[in-house]
Amino acid sequence: MARVALVTGGSRGIGAAISAALKEQGRTVVANYTSSDAAAEAFHAETGIRVMRFDVSDLAACETAVAQITAEVGPIEILVNNAGITRDATLTRMTRDMWDAVLDTDLGSCFNLCKLTFDAMRTAKFGRIVNIGSVNGQMGQYGQVNYAAAKSAIHGFTKALAQEGARFGITVNAVAPGYIDTDMVRAVPAEVMQKILARIPIGRLGHSEEIGRAVAFLTAEEAGFITGSTLSINGGQHMY
Ligand code: NDP
Repeated sequence: MARVALVTGGSRGIGAAISAALKEQGRTVVANYTSSDAAAEAFHAETGIRVMRFDVSDLAACETAVAQITAEVGPIEILVNNAGITRDATLTRMTRDMWDAVLDTDLGSCFNLCKLTFDAMRTAKFGRIVNIGSVNGQMGQYGQVNYAAAKSAIHGFTKALAQEGARFGITVNAVAPGYIDTDMVRAVPAEVMQKILARIPIGRLGHSEEIGRAVAFLTAEEAGFITGSTLSINGGQHMY
């Protein structure tokens, strides 16, 4: 039977490409989202992938969703923590709410969903977890202390959980994208984007499909010896 994969933020942007790549790999995919019903419905109509609305920063909502997926689709054996937001401002202007929103969504979601799916993976003696970090977690970025802190922490979280999962056949890896052509990056002002492009040796933004391919590689049955690693995909912007 096809293994069940949950991709958070899986109906738009990078997540949509990850969902499509995992479906192509033969997985039964559930794509989560939080508010964009129209985008999710369009994605479902186009791909046939089941979509499910819940807030990944809310532990109780995650618990309900994981129980529903387990009952209706099957136990989750592949988890991609991709949902993420930015709330950019310099530290002077950043409010505690902006800090909390990014930490709860980008990092808290990894805790919530790993915690809720880990036991089923242990029972199955198989699991694949991929957490989506960021080049800005590796390098830092002006105006993003919240985002850089959350994404940087994902890399430590990944390495620690990899050690807990290893003897149960559960691998835990991170992918750290550079600048990828999605709605999140299209929101960056043009003059800032020119400066960013000038620092990318390959000279272009990445494509979501390039991240989808990497996640499919890391979640493959044959990838059982890769754990605790971070795969940087950034056009040479940061060689880590
Ligand atoms: P988008 O803004 O295009 O999409 C974000 C997705 O996350 C949407 O599906 C959104 O749902 C979902 N989401 C946001 N908050 C929540 C929440 N609380 N609960 C459930 N779902 C939520 O982002 P990208 O595709 O650009 O980014 C995807 C990931 O990649 C993020 O973690 C981001 O930080 C990371 N990343 C992106 C880079 C880039 O250049 N784009 C670079 C490096 C890392 P909805 O559709 O309902 O809004």
